[in-house]
Amino acid sequence: MTRTRIVATLGPATASEEAIAALIGAGVDVFRLNFSHGTHEDHGAAIGRIRRLAGDRPVAILQDLCGPKFRLDRPLRARAGEIVEIPLPGGVRPGDPVLLADGTVHLEVVDGMRCRVVIGGDLPAGKGINFPSSRLDVPALTDKDRRDLAFGVAQGVDFVALSFVRRASDLDEVKRSGLPVVAKIEKPEAVENMEEIVRAADGIMVARGDLGVEIPIERVPVVQKRLIALANRAGKPVITATQMLRSMVDEPMPTRAEATDVANAVLDGTDAVMLSEETAIGKYAVESVRVMDRIIAEAEPLLAPRSDDPGRDPEDVLSAAACEMAERIGARAIVVPTQSGFTARKVARRRPRVPIIALTPEEKTRLRLSLVWGVAAVTVPWFGDHAGVLEQFREPVRATRLVPDGSRVVVTAGWPFATPGITNLVHVTTL
Ligand code: PEP
Repeated sequence: MTRTRIVATLGPATASEEAIAALIGAGVDVFRLNFSHGTHEDHGAAIGRIRRLAGDRPVAILQDLCGPKFRLDRPLRARAGEIVEIPLPGGVRPGDPVLLADGTVHLEVVDGMRCRVVIGGDLPAGKGINFPSSRLDVPALTDKDRRDLAFGVAQGVDFVALSFVRRASDLDEVKRSGLPVVAKIEKPEAVENMEEIVRAADGIMVARGDLGVEIPIERVPVVQKRLIALANRAGKPVITATQMLRSMVDEPMPTRAEATDVANAVLDGTDAVMLSEETAIGKYAVESVRVMDRIIAEAEPLLAPRSDDPGRDPEDVLSAAACEMAERIGARAIVVPTQSGFTARKVARRRPRVPIIALTPEEKTRLRLSLVWGVAAVTVPWFGDHAGVLEQFREPVRATRLVPDGSRVVVTAGWPFATPGITNLVHVTTL
């Protein structure tokens, strides 16, 4: 069983029951529904299929909101040196660069709606527009995002991702939905404000597609590493996204560079790797997941458990101690009874070699842990008091078949259960 999670984007190539079932069978942990495309009817049908086909498997659903993304409202024919008119949002100034279609066409703002063409091209309506140097005067959430979010909440998605986040306060309105929020890091301002965004978000996505247009492309690998390190330190899940196996949209095999990119993200410490067009529109969607899973399986044994200073928070120190204890005494698993998933995330943060088995009475926690590195989550009845936990954990752990009977295990939890956000108990026993 691999421990780095696979997120797959659904799309026209994978809308059918057969395709979703095959993707689950190949190892998808989280399906991403991209609300830049498709209708509520399409997404609702996909959600119904995923829930039905997942059965007992903890397969989660991530709703990805478009955020304030700008698109061409009509086709554009642009020749170098010409002046063209496109709608420009508030905050752009004369001289600011405007990049279209992932930077294939490059304009420079003159005034009003007028731009000079620096690098030309012909583009259809709908292509994305980026303003990498402009401090845009736009709200974090559009009316479409609000309608989409209300739909996602009603449909019971497990996470919501917000595009084009610039600062922590951009997440406030989405957080009020009660869903865990994944901040997509793809703007220069988000890179500047990464610490406060990681603190405020429940997870982050290194959204390398727009990021590679919004900041110089040579900075993307380093920003990826900084974001992963920061999210790991905070115990928040991080998804590395976009073009991981891009050539598999058309080819049955990835390039060597792509295979190496997936392995390097695993070794950077990412919780999850994501497929976008590979599974949404690709000819080899299921094969992309299988290839990704095989690359992860090869890379993961090189990932060393974290041994850096866990800091001063008792929760961080205790979860680090549970991992170190498991390693030293030869325990075969770290068992984490958890209500909110907090302690499981704290343990996963240390990347222990042995399985992390989370036991939770909350189905939504079980699904949310599908984005967290290395956690096998199982739903259990409410344990009652703490003596109950220490007696009753055995049966569900045995049922996972991840731990041989009679082996040592470390149990760690926060007590009382009803108070999320604490880890204060470590217990060594045998299964
Ligand atoms: C990205 O830009 O890398 C990304 C994941 O976002 P989207 O696919 O919505 O452009």
